[in-house]
Amino acid sequence: MGLYLRPTEIEEAVAALAAGKLTILAGGTDFYPARVGKPLSDDILDVTALAALRGITEDEHSFRIGAAVRWSELIAADLPPWFACLTLAAREIGGRQIQNAGTLAGNICNASPAADGVPGLLALDAAIEIASTRGTRLLPLADFILGNRRTALAGDELVTAIVIPKPHAAARSTFLKLGARKYLVISIVMVAALVETASDGTIAAASIAVGACSAVARRLAALEQDLLGRKLAPGIGAVATAAHLAELAPIDDVRAAAAYRSDAALALVARGLEALAAP
Ligand SMILES: Cc1cc2nc3c(=O)[nH]c(=O)nc-3n(C[C@H](O)[C@H](O)[C@H](O)COP(=O)(O)OP(=O)(O)OC[C@H]3O[C@@H](n4cnc5c(N)ncnc54)[C@H](O)[C@@H]3O)c2cc1C
Repeated sequence: MGLYLRPTEIEEAVAALAAGKLTILAGGTDFYPARVGKPLSDDILDVTALAALRGITEDEHSFRIGAAVRWSELIAADLPPWFACLTLAAREIGGRQIQNAGTLAGNICNASPAADGVPGLLALDAAIEIASTRGTRLLPLADFILGNRRTALAGDELVTAIVIPKPHAAARSTFLKLGARKYLVISIVMVAALVETASDGTIAAASIAVGACSAVARRLAALEQDLLGRKLAPGIGAVATAAHLAELAPIDDVRAAAAYRSDAALALVARGLEALAAP
C-alpha cells in the first residue's frame, strides 16, 4: 500500500491533491468492492476527517450537504417534505451498514448508471461544489457526471458539498426504485419526480428524472413541459407516454432487457406522478 493521508483542513487536502496523484476515499463502499482480490497500491486521500465536508446547513436560498455526509445522516436530518426524492432513495441504498458508511458525494463521484442518489439530485437541480488550490467552483450535477464512471472532476479537485436550491412554490417529490427484489439490490430502473404547484393547484414546475436507463440518469424535458399548467390531481400519471422516454437509451444486461426497462420506466413515472397527486 502507498501513502495514506487523512487531513483535517481543506487547505491541506487540496495542497496534497495538487502535489501528486491521490485516490479520494470517503465511506469506501464503492472503493473497496472494486478492488477485491487486488493489492491496494493507490496513494489515498481520506476525506472523512475534513470538518468542512461535514453537516447539512441551510440559508435563505439553498441547502448545503457536505461531501462527507452519509446516507444515514441524511435520513436522520430534519428536512422539508420536498426532499423526499432524495430521502426515500437514501432509505433504499444498501442496508444500514452501507448507509452508515457511504456518502452522497461518493455515490455521484462513482458515477454508476445505477447510482440511486443521482435521479433525486437531478430532480432537485443540485449543483456540485468543487475545491482545489485554484479555488472553488460550482457545477450543475447534469454537467458533473459525463458518462458511465466519468465525471468532470480534475485530478487535483475534490467535491466539498452538494448544493440544493429551495423551490419557489409549494413542492412535493417522490422516488420509486425497481429491483429484482425489494431490498439490497442494484436498480433496474428508478424514478425521481418533483412538482411545484401554484395556489390554484396547477403544476408550475416539474422535474422528472429516470436512472439506470442511460449511461447517466436523465431528466425527461418533454414530459416536464407537458405537465405545466395541468391540475395536480389523480389521473395525472396518464400524461406520461412512451414518447416522453425518447431521451433514454436502456440496454440489455444481466438485470433486465432494454424493452422491459422502458416499460418499467413508463410505469414508474406514471406511478410517481399519481403518488404526488394523492391527497
Ligand atoms: C453491499 C452494497 C450495497 C450497495 N447498495 C447500493 C444501492 O442500493 N444503491 C446505490 O446507489 N449504491 C449502492 N452501493 C454503492 C455505494 O454504497 C454508494 O454508491 C455510496 O454512496 C458510495 O459512497 P462512499 O462514500 O462509500 O464512496 P467511496 O467508495 O469512498 O468512493 C466512491 C468514489 O467516489 C470518489 N469520491 C468519494 N468522495 C469524494 C469527494 N469528496 N470528492 C471526489 N471524489 C470522491 C472516490 O474516489 C471513488 O471513486 C452499495 C454498495 C455495497 C457494498
